[in-house]
Amino acid sequence: MDRYAVIGNPVSHSRSPQIHAAFASATAQDMDYGRLLAPLDGFAQVVAEFRAGGGRGANVTVPFKEAAFSLSAILSERARAAGAVNTLRFDAEGLFGDNTDGAGLVADLRKNLQVALTGKRILLVGAGGAARGVLQPLVAERPALLVITNRSDQKARTLASVAGGPVIARRFEDIQGEAFNIVINATSASLAGEVPPLPTGLFLPGALAYDMMYARDDTPFMAWARAQRAARITDGLGMLVEQAAESFFIWRGICPDTAPVLAMLRAAS
Ligand code: NDP
Repeated sequence: MDRYAVIGNPVSHSRSPQIHAAFASATAQDMDYGRLLAPLDGFAQVVAEFRAGGGRGANVTVPFKEAAFSLSAILSERARAAGAVNTLRFDAEGLFGDNTDGAGLVADLRKNLQVALTGKRILLVGAGGAARGVLQPLVAERPALLVITNRSDQKARTLASVAGGPVIARRFEDIQGEAFNIVINATSASLAGEVPPLPTGLFLPGALAYDMMYARDDTPFMAWARAQRAARITDGLGMLVEQAAESFFIWRGICPDTAPVLAMLRAAS
């Protein structure tokens, strides 16, 4: 049986094993997918041991995506652009590193939520690993404007300066008076029960508020967006399933059907 795992710290909350078990069962793949908790200073060792023990590949989550990038002998273009790796495949030539977060977000927006991105005004809140992973795939959809805003303003400006296209950086207070079709929360603020200090009036009529975090109930950002009368509000569960499907394809060469798995997770939560 081929073995895969998600490596993170913490990792016990991860729903990836459930998702990949469903994909494997639907596509008749003989594989096992578990969770590996790595010490904060022990990511490379956990990868090496898993590989030596017969592992074929892994997903990488907080806080190891940059460490996975450094460890990869071969990088996909999108991993290189993101500077972060969330999918490792253990090839004979060495570790192949890819980043499926951006493809996962775009697939969730376009396919599951039926949201077109071309010509739209997008606000991306956050400049960490997740924001870096989704930036280029969002730009490739040709939005009219993509504003990055982040608590540490310099990180947003650095990201915008290398992004090209219609990407600019603004401080939280400087987006007062601007409005958007899509506002994406790519911060981890919801994990701490917080909402970034965004100005009011950000949502255009029909706008979508998207929190990359997922939870049984509204996240703090989703509750805030509801109070702001955003027309559509969603969490990041669809992104999680779509990025997993991309990883599954990288490992197994098969595109699993995501809709039943997303429906199963929604029903279970
Ligand atoms: P990082 O640690 O790399 O980045 C965290 C980001 O959040 C930074 O921009 C940081 O700002 C900002 N931030 C943290 N706390 C606050 C706060 N209290 N107020 C304002 N900003 C804050 O994390 P990731 O980018 O890897 O992950 C971000 C989120 O996206 C997580 O919740 C993660 O679970 C989720 N995610 C979901 C995925 C999915 O498939 N649904 C996939 C990947 C990520 P600063 O730079 O100032 O520190």
